[in-house]
Amino acid sequence: MPKHTIVLIPGDGIGPEVTVATQRVLSEAGLDVEWVELPAGAVALEQGYDNVLPQRTLAAITAHKVALKGPVTTPVGKGFTSVNVQLRKKLNLYAAVRPVRNLRGVETRFKDIDLIIVRENTEGLYSGIENEVVPGVVTSLKVASEAACTRIARFAFRYATRFHRRKITVFHKANIMKLTDGLFLACARRIYEEEYPNIEYEETIIDAGCMKLVQDPSRFDMLLMENLYGDLVSDLCAGLVGGLGVVGGSNIGDNAAVFEAVHGSAPDIAGKGIANPLALIVSATMMLNYLHEEAIARKVREAYEAVLVEGKTLTRDLGGKAGTNEFADAVIGKLR
Ligand code: NAD
Repeated sequence: MPKHTIVLIPGDGIGPEVTVATQRVLSEAGLDVEWVELPAGAVALEQGYDNVLPQRTLAAITAHKVALKGPVTTPVGKGFTSVNVQLRKKLNLYAAVRPVRNLRGVETRFKDIDLIIVRENTEGLYSGIENEVVPGVVTSLKVASEAACTRIARFAFRYATRFHRRKITVFHKANIMKLTDGLFLACARRIYEEEYPNIEYEETIIDAGCMKLVQDPSRFDMLLMENLYGDLVSDLCAGLVGGLGVVGGSNIGDNAAVFEAVHGSAPDIAGKGIANPLALIVSATMMLNYLHEEAIARKVREAYEAVLVEGKTLTRDLGGKAGTNEFADAVIGKLR
């Protein structure tokens, strides 16, 4: 019997390309796994399920507790509600953790970037509560609950303690959204004061925070914020270290975790075999650490770093000419 059972959601767009590449790398690295492949998104409807997030997919993640997921397209301005938002809410994957670091071999404007973004994943403006008040006037409700704000703040401080991080900065807009962002801030401040006064803590209005991030990212260590801000700042920070092709992420709850890249389904390059699979490979190393397969995670990291440093088999987003499979083959070559 395999040591691990992991749910695999290939997603759509570049999802199937990067998930297959990642599976091949993990297999070569020696991960003893049974993959349970299940759909989400429009693909699920095409396969005959009656929902974009089939009950079977949710049940499998609940049962096996861990999933590796490719991106899923969400129609803009109409159509079904985001599968990603639904998945995070239904499984209570309340913390998105996205480490943003310089990679050896990837040239960027700044050196020594080492940030952890912790994003609240279950409420805020992503609650999907929108109304047409009268024709031509619509509203979107931003939800903040004391329970969810406290939970994510405590998660961030616990993470900081466990991984020896020095400082947490909360990005907010409590000057305008006094109740919702005000509550987020009050909960974070209370956890800091009452439970983790040993960790440095600061609060920054998000607009100024974004300017400071692109001027000097090294002044930040961990960033804590609500759902929408976390989504935007994740892509901004990805741009600091080489783009969306290199940043991995996780969605963590108390009973399950789903690992996925920060990037989306990239329809502009889907099906061309040129997507960078590294972001999902990085997400997979985070998953390996979560599964206490630290030695395999280290092997994979050393292999992709060696490929990046060598610089001969880079994908186009990193200035090379290699395709998705060629990059995966190069990583596999280093694992052999
Ligand atoms: P995107 O992240 O898909 O693409 C943004 C840009 O980055 C594109 O130019 C794309 O080619 C490039 N890019 C992204 N990943 C890359 C990779 N691995 N290698 C090389 N280049 C890469 O963002 P988008 O175009 O705004 O969104 C497309 C769709 O993805 C939307 O429907 C959106 O809702 C969805 N989305 C899904 C997730 C998810 O499933 N977790 C996350 C973000 C966006």
